[in-house]
Amino acid sequence: MRQTGVHPTYLACVRDSQLPGRSKCDSPIFSLALAQVAGRIAVVPTPFQHLVYAMRVIKSSELPDSIREHIMEASGAYLLGTTAVDVQSVTQQPRIETHFYHLPPPECPRAVETMLALYPGLADPYVLSPEYAAFVSGYLIHLVWDEVWAWKVFIPFYYSSGLWTDRRTRSVHHNALRVLLDRDAERELRKGTTLTALLREVAPDHWLPFVEEGALQYWRDWVVTQLADPQAVQTVQVFAERMGVTVAHLEAVAQAISAGTYDPPVPGLEEAIIQFESQALAESLSYLLWYWRFKERLEIGPCVAGISKY
Ligand SMILES: [Zn+2]
Repeated sequence: MRQTGVHPTYLACVRDSQLPGRSKCDSPIFSLALAQVAGRIAVVPTPFQHLVYAMRVIKSSELPDSIREHIMEASGAYLLGTTAVDVQSVTQQPRIETHFYHLPPPECPRAVETMLALYPGLADPYVLSPEYAAFVSGYLIHLVWDEVWAWKVFIPFYYSSGLWTDRRTRSVHHNALRVLLDRDAERELRKGTTLTALLREVAPDHWLPFVEEGALQYWRDWVVTQLADPQAVQTVQVFAERMGVTVAHLEAVAQAISAGTYDPPVPGLEEAIIQFESQALAESLSYLLWYWRFKERLEIGPCVAGISKY
């Protein structure tokens, strides 16, 4: 088991949970640790966004009913899976160990293909329990949304863009954009109340061979806390602190992006976000189809096989 570099409060929490009467990570410093976790999820859509995207995938009329039924049998596990990819912010593993690519992501193989090739025990949904297969399904689509975000938004508008005078300005703009999208997602999620209950009931059981046992439970509790208690959501504070800017400054940048008054303007960004969402949805459906057609699918993934849509 990896011990070095693990989030210290996570370790304290695991130790705590072994004490009599402390069944959960309920120490006073837990909420601080939760905020720190939020701060480590960099570069990509936030957990709230991933939950919204996962619901779009499951509601899509293009998803075959048979696959929807499999996933809906264990929807809490599916939702946990779609956020759990960012568990490395708790365990402090290198990001490649949970995301299966370095930035910028290669066109081929896709992260989904790399993961299933490295961990063939996850590759056949029909030998896994319904909860486990739903969890892996959620995990796979998170990888797709992250890659498409990198290609459509992060790399062209930030990572490789010459628009920015310095790294901090670039980083503040990117994080302000993430704050805006995160808030939209949060509003959408708070319309329903069942989500928290579904997630709370999920009981991961050695589901990720590359993540130490205990981390997923900690992660689940963090996501549940964020959903159950709006006060626990400190995304903007943590982002601001990490970048060494004030909350007021980050909020002002977010406001300017939202109002279209940010200077200099970032032409094409809004259109790119729309394209990101539609491409990631289409590719998520394609990869879910590939995953659930285990018995008839090619062993290699669609990208490696040169098939653009499965
Ligand atoms: Zn991610």
